[in-house]
Amino acid sequence: MTSIKHHPTVTLIQHAGGDTMVAAAAKVSTTGDEARSLERIEEEGGISGLIRYLMRHRHGSPFEHGMMTFFIHAPIFVIRELQRHRIASYNEESGRYKQLEPVFWSPDDERPLAKTEGYKPSRPTFEAGTTEQYELIRKHDEIYLQIYEAYEEEIAAGIGNEVARRLLPVGTFTSCWVTINPRSLMNVLSLRIHDAGAKAVSYPQREIEEVAQAMETAFAQHWPLTHAAFLKNGRVGP
Ligand SMILES: Cc1cc2nc3c(=O)[nH]c(=O)nc-3n(C[C@H](O)[C@H](O)[C@H](O)COP(=O)(O)OP(=O)(O)OC[C@H]3O[C@@H](n4cnc5c(N)ncnc54)[C@H](O)[C@@H]3O)c2cc1C
Repeated sequence: MTSIKHHPTVTLIQHAGGDTMVAAAAKVSTTGDEARSLERIEEEGGISGLIRYLMRHRHGSPFEHGMMTFFIHAPIFVIRELQRHRIASYNEESGRYKQLEPVFWSPDDERPLAKTEGYKPSRPTFEAGTTEQYELIRKHDEIYLQIYEAYEEEIAAGIGNEVARRLLPVGTFTSCWVTINPRSLMNVLSLRIHDAGAKAVSYPQREIEEVAQAMETAFAQHWPLTHAAFLKNGRVGP
C-alpha cells in the first residue's frame, strides 16, 4: 500500500537566541563585558534600529548567534535542493539502514504545473493544468505502487536496502533534521521564496518554497525585529 502526500511537513523542534542576542553580539565590540547583560540591552532600547543598521551594512556575524532546528518530511528532490545550503547541519533518514516508507509526492489539483506561454528556464512560471494533465498525473501515480512492490520484493528476497533503493524515485518522502543559524536561514529565504518585490527575485520550485515559507513563519515569530529588517532590506540577508 502506498500513500500520496502533496506537501512537505516542517516542524520547528527547538530554537535558541533572538533579536536581543543579535544586538548583544554586535555590542560586544564597543561595550565589552557589558554586552553580557541581555536585560540591560533590552532596557537601553534601540535594538530595532541597530539590527536594521547591521542588516543594511552587511555586518552579518551577529546574526549567527542563534539556531533553529527543524524536522522536515519532504520528497527526496526537495531535501536534495535544501542540502545545497551548506551553512547548516543535516541528518537524514538512511536508505541503507532502513526500508523507506511508501509515501510519495504528487501535486494536488491546485498546484500550477503547465508551463506558461513564453516559458523561460531561468524564470519558470506555471499555470493551472488542464483536466487531462491532472488525470495523466493521477494515472502515473499508480506507477509508485508497482515500484514500491518491486522494492519490497527485492528486500524480501534478501537483497540489501542499499541496492533495492535504486528503484525509488525522487518523489519518495524522506525525513531530515536541519539546524541552521538566522544568517544562513535568511540566505535560504531569499533564494527559496519567490517575491516579485525582492531586490533579487528568485524562482524556486514550489515545494522547497513551501519548506522555506514554514521556516520563515518560525523565524518571524522568534526573531521579529530581524525578520522585519530582512524584509525592509528587500529580502537580502547580511
Ligand atoms: C532557483 C534556484 C535554482 C538553482 N538551480 C541549481 C542548478 O540547476 N544546479 C545546481 O547545482 N544548483 C542550483 N541551485 C543551488 C545554488 O547554486 C546554491 O547551491 C544554493 O542555492 C545554496 O546557496 P548558497 O551557496 O548561497 O548557500 P550555502 O551553501 O548555505 O552558503 C551560504 C553562503 O556561504 C558562502 N559560501 C559557502 N560555501 C562557499 C564556498 N565554497 N566558497 C565561497 N563562499 C561560500 C557564500 O557566501 C554563500 O552564499 C539553485 C538554487 C536556486 C535558488
